[in-house]
Amino acid sequence: MDNDLANDVLDVLGRCLAGAKRPVALHEPRFEGNEWRYVKECLDSGWVSSVGAFVDRYESDLAALTGVRRAVAVVNGTAALHMCLLLAGVEREDEVLMPTLTFVATANAVVYCGAVPHLVDSDASTLGVDPEKLRAYMESLVERRSDLAFNKLTGRRIRALVVMHTFGHPADLESLSRVCGDFGLVLIEDAAESLGSFYKGRPTGNWGLLSAVSFNGNKIVTAGGGGAILTNNVELGDLAKHLTTTARRPHRWEFVHDAVGYNYRLPNINAALGCAQLEQLPESVTRKRALAVRYRDAFASISGASFFLEPEDCCSNYWLNALLIDPELANQRDRVLAASNEAGFMTRPVWSLMHRLPMYAACPRMNLDVAESLASRVVNLPSSAFL
Ligand SMILES: *Cc1c(COP(=O)(O)O)cnc(C)c1O
Repeated sequence: MDNDLANDVLDVLGRCLAGAKRPVALHEPRFEGNEWRYVKECLDSGWVSSVGAFVDRYESDLAALTGVRRAVAVVNGTAALHMCLLLAGVEREDEVLMPTLTFVATANAVVYCGAVPHLVDSDASTLGVDPEKLRAYMESLVERRSDLAFNKLTGRRIRALVVMHTFGHPADLESLSRVCGDFGLVLIEDAAESLGSFYKGRPTGNWGLLSAVSFNGNKIVTAGGGGAILTNNVELGDLAKHLTTTARRPHRWEFVHDAVGYNYRLPNINAALGCAQLEQLPESVTRKRALAVRYRDAFASISGASFFLEPEDCCSNYWLNALLIDPELANQRDRVLAASNEAGFMTRPVWSLMHRLPMYAACPRMNLDVAESLASRVVNLPSSAFL
């Protein structure tokens, strides 16, 4: 009786992934396009490192794909987030609003700036920051001084809101943009998981003043490792390029640096891999959406859990598929995880919530009930595009 849900889930996975070789990984890259050719070009030409034609091409391809005016390739998504926050004007002792339901990199990047993560709750229909709950919270928390928002309890300036598009599903960007406008916050998107996703027809990563994407090995497009800063603000884009490349003034031989810069640039050999992968993004999204439809239809037949569907008005890349166990059966989650992993289907719970991690336990935060509930019930399913 107690094993009903685990058995049902196993049965659905068996049907949806019948042809797949076990163990079936959670998310695996495939290199079926020009990867070998482009990487070989790098090796043959000797341009493997910090400059090269593939870096420039990757940046323009990314900008074209997401519709932004500037894309700056960097070494990973965390570095991209760090740079987005710095360029948004986040300073030491500022607070930055961000979801507790996210990967740890979001919070780490805030701390790299000397700022304090201020943790907010999620909306169960998007898995992203809940705009209504955030607005109500800000109304009681914030004191406005000129254009700026200050936390009445801590006295610190609240500078920015980082939203994250969980598993590729867009957060409610329109409502969240409005909250930012009303409280003088800079909107930053952690779009690490959502390359190829759209909110109301406009790509994620194109809504924030600055956005970060990731090309880690488990993301929908991989460069081996890598990331990018996206922005429609050309000046900020140029500054991002400057600061991530050691802030060196262009000169034929002299080493003149005009700021404390970062060596965050993406090597050309990684950009080569990324270019080839990016060519396959539309196909990957199509395949992943087809897999999601298969899961959706199959899970419709079981009770006690539901397959998470893209929010209204959104087209999601379905980076990681998610099953949501009903609240009253949340205690079955570990059994579902154990049974599926034993059977060779790699499934995973969501990340630990940020306020549960020792270094972020004391961060300021609102009531986080929805995130708590979601974190106890999410099971991520095998999601590779080729499945
Ligand atoms: C992957 C990821 C990052 C970090 O990207 P890296 O390239 O691994 O540094 C940041 N935020 C979220 C939500 C992610 O999923």
